[in-house]
Amino acid sequence: MLTGSCLCGKVAFTVEGPLPDLYQCHCSLCRKVTGSANNTATLVATSRFRWTRGEESIRSFVRDTGYRNDFCACCGSTVPNLMRSGETMWIPAGLLDEPVGAAVTKHLFVASKADWDEIGGTGQRFAGLPDRLP
Ligand SMILES: [Zn+2]
Ligand SMILES: [Zn+2]
Repeated sequence: MLTGSCLCGKVAFTVEGPLPDLYQCHCSLCRKVTGSANNTATLVATSRFRWTRGEESIRSFVRDTGYRNDFCACCGSTVPNLMRSGETMWIPAGLLDEPVGAAVTKHLFVASKADWDEIGGTGQRFAGLPDRLP
């Protein structure tokens, strides 16, 4: 069982492992959300995800296009959110507290990455969005 939490600790959750492969999205929106080069995350079935505390502290921001960022109202950390299908939870990898035993296997929106973003590793690179995630 993996545990995850936000910066202040108010919001916490568990994910039943093993964790699927991770992806990194290098799009301009993910840069804004993270303040950094990319957003590293994965998707897990809702049945393997459980909030352990702090759901009431979560706020949501949704752009007209549907791009969504759920975050802790206290510390601003991005937190997991339910995908529109209702079947999977999106999990930001940086919230996980222990080593996860999963690797970054996909890089998304490489065509619009920041000019200072140097992608490393062996993950597959996609100019935009691949057909399937993770
Ligand atoms: Zn927090
Ligand atoms: Zn993105």
